[in-house]
Amino acid sequence: MDDVFRYIDTHRDRFVGELCTLLRQPSISAQNVGVSECAELVRRYVGEAGAEARVIPTPGYPVVYGQVPAPGAGRSVLIYGHYDVQPPEPLELWETPPFEPSIRRGRIYARGAGDNKGQLFAHLKAVEAVLRTRGRLPLTLKMCFEGEEEVSSRNLPGFVSAHRELLAADVVYASDGPMHPSGPTVYFGCRGLLYLELIARGAARDLHSGNYGGVAPAPAAHLTRGLASLWARRGKVAVAGFYDRVRKPSPADRRVLRAIPFDAESVRADLGLPPETAAAGRAYYRRLLMQPNLNVAGLTSGYQGPGSKTIIPRVARAKLDVRLVMDQDPDEIEEKIHAHLKRHGFGDIEVKRLGAVPPSRTPVDHPYGQAVVRAVTRAWGRRPVLFPNLGGTIPDYLFTRGLGLPSIWVPYAPHDEANHAPNESITLEGFVNGIRSTAAALFEIAAA
Ligand SMILES: [Zn+2]
Repeated sequence: MDDVFRYIDTHRDRFVGELCTLLRQPSISAQNVGVSECAELVRRYVGEAGAEARVIPTPGYPVVYGQVPAPGAGRSVLIYGHYDVQPPEPLELWETPPFEPSIRRGRIYARGAGDNKGQLFAHLKAVEAVLRTRGRLPLTLKMCFEGEEEVSSRNLPGFVSAHRELLAADVVYASDGPMHPSGPTVYFGCRGLLYLELIARGAARDLHSGNYGGVAPAPAAHLTRGLASLWARRGKVAVAGFYDRVRKPSPADRRVLRAIPFDAESVRADLGLPPETAAAGRAYYRRLLMQPNLNVAGLTSGYQGPGSKTIIPRVARAKLDVRLVMDQDPDEIEEKIHAHLKRHGFGDIEVKRLGAVPPSRTPVDHPYGQAVVRAVTRAWGRRPVLFPNLGGTIPDYLFTRGLGLPSIWVPYAPHDEANHAPNESITLEGFVNGIRSTAAALFEIAAA
């Protein structure tokens, strides 16, 4: 890899300059700002890297697709990323404007620097570096960059099922999310997400609690009692069958979990929790990654302004997010929550689904996973931390279930990238080692 790594070192300043051009182009999918223009710019960079590039329309924002054939090569890899970004607000909290990239303290600051343009661009520069030094890639490369990740990838499922041939490969390689604070990281999937809204209704209007208290239904009390019934002691979910399909960690999972560095003190300090809080310990990552969780994400009813107002509110609402693990199924869990509410006298509470993504995983000891670990080790000069899956949720199931492929994720952004927040950044080290990682991964996967 020395020749490829040398090329990356030699051209590093130009790479950073080109990334800044990409970062200067807004692509805010939630606000319809600059997304199509950005797709065009990404297509240009995919082409300049040496791939056949095209923009493929979807009912929403387009997918930028690139392909580098390698005649005679046995393997193929599909790289996924996204070129859309989150809205930059609140603007006043940015040290430098979000779409005017600024380099300071070894980092590039801009909206999208970490999530996901910097990581996406690292793949393109890796392709360039290998093609310019070796003349060809060791495997067939396909690239799929979507423009709707920040708005729930709403057209990606349709795109994947409509383009199965185009996307066919042996393995998916992707970079998104932050690294672990200890350094280079590889993860093999994610928890799923089921998002529900629960609505309890009372009278047709808010009522005077003196005139109607005791005779009219009280939706806020009803809803909170219904919510409380969802948990047993110590946070265990009381919904019958909730844990039925939770997969036990394999011996390899357990090995990987034990090896994740964990600093209880810094986690507590970061979260502002008192030292006696048990939000930590050896079980931290096992709970966070391998166990499902049911959470009240929002709760509203009645009057919350200054002073008092004596009313019986007409409606009470709660938002619930359920983080799912293998092999839980969002439809089945929603059904079980429904049945639970009914059985406990809360059948009148309306349950609305706001979103669902199934969990997804590739085994941590998968041969392609091992190949990627070797690649990241070569790129960084030390072994990465492995995660059996993320605690959060990404559309990984589209690749593992939709295309039936193993899928391995290698984040290039730092743990404090501030994605979705002001002063988002990627470190120059993460960007450059990301380029090296992708380049090395192409060879390691080809040889696996
Ligand atoms: Zn994001």
